[in-house]
Amino acid sequence: MSLKIGIAKELEPGEKRVALSPEVAKKLIALGAKLEMEQTAGAESHFIDADYTDVKFASGLKIAYAEANLILRVTPPTLEEIELMPDGSVLIGLMRPYESKERIAAFNRKNLTVFALELLPRISRAQSMDALSSQGACSGYQCGLIAAARCTKFFPMLTTAAGTIRPAKVLVIGAGVSGLQAIATCKRLGAIVEAYDVRAAAREQIESLGAKFVDTGVSADGSGGYARELTADEKAQQAEKLAKAVAAADVVITTAAIPGKKAPVIITKEMIARMKYGAIVVDMAAETGGNCALTQPGEHIIANDVNIHGPLNLPSRMPTHASELYSRNLYNFLSPFIKDGDLTLDWDDEVLSGTVLCHDGRTMHPTVLQVLGE
Ligand code: NAD
Repeated sequence: MSLKIGIAKELEPGEKRVALSPEVAKKLIALGAKLEMEQTAGAESHFIDADYTDVKFASGLKIAYAEANLILRVTPPTLEEIELMPDGSVLIGLMRPYESKERIAAFNRKNLTVFALELLPRISRAQSMDALSSQGACSGYQCGLIAAARCTKFFPMLTTAAGTIRPAKVLVIGAGVSGLQAIATCKRLGAIVEAYDVRAAAREQIESLGAKFVDTGVSADGSGGYARELTADEKAQQAEKLAKAVAAADVVITTAAIPGKKAPVIITKEMIARMKYGAIVVDMAAETGGNCALTQPGEHIIANDVNIHGPLNLPSRMPTHASELYSRNLYNFLSPFIKDGDLTLDWDDEVLSGTVLCHDGRTMHPTVLQVLGE
């Protein structure tokens, strides 16, 4: 099919990213695609309309989508927005596939072919398309910065005329892409960093960044390179061993996640009670319930003089680079299937078939079907 790509403003409150950067717009046009974009869709990422050469601009999302057979998004569309998408068109974005049966039913009613980038197979070939990684790196970096900005101590060791200041102690729990970026950010700022993850491979990655690995003796590798949920005994062992490191930290950054599940609660109320006065918790898992029992998503609360932050949508705090990286991920995913201005999906491609959420009026992904109980 002759490729017409539609891009509208993101509608979620506070969302500043855009799915298409001017750099990627140029590359798609060079492949023969026609692009139509809602006016000022890139403005919050500081891409003005004039930066998008040869892109047609529409005065609303309805017009931006009217002719499209491929729609690029960052966040999932609303039900009203899905209604405006042409029947049978292709939709790509971070679709939060486990969140809403209603949204998936709407995709299927419209016969949309939907690719949810959260489902992308984590194989080497797909690294350049991995939006969870690119956005996770933004989140981890932001967690480090929030912690440093709110900490009442210097992160680095300082030797001053008034004597020496000891560096702050940071503990990072969960050392996937975001956790590793949080470690690297806090190390660059000079803190003493310890970190912990249940996956065995994480130890070497933590140590390669110059942080100390906290060994709890619990190892829980699951399928697809992800962690599995811990048993009750493992949770108790983990809590006992981690409590000491939590109590000694000035800052705890938590990023632990299990795909398709609520975030594991790792920092208990009792652990908070044993933390230093003025210590900080930055809970990156706030969006999926939080790794800290007291986290309030989107809020900053104080309990026992410990500051607990539950920030949401961290990549949107740095929308220019987050959008640039995200847009490149989309391009790397799509470009192998664009030839002479046509989009031809190759279902034998394991990356493409592994990422599809809906096609031909049906939900395709087995894990999503299982999690949603269908
Ligand atoms: P994620 O966001 O799903 O989870 C974050 C981290 O939390 C993970 O490292 C996980 O092990 C950890 N975790 C879960 N439960 C925990 C608990 N109870 N206590 C402590 N830590 C806990 O992870 P992610 O960043 O998306 O990465 C997941 C995996 O995918 C990693 O192995 C990563 O190296 C791998 N990966 C592969 C590629 C690729 O090859 N294309 C790209 C990115 C990530």
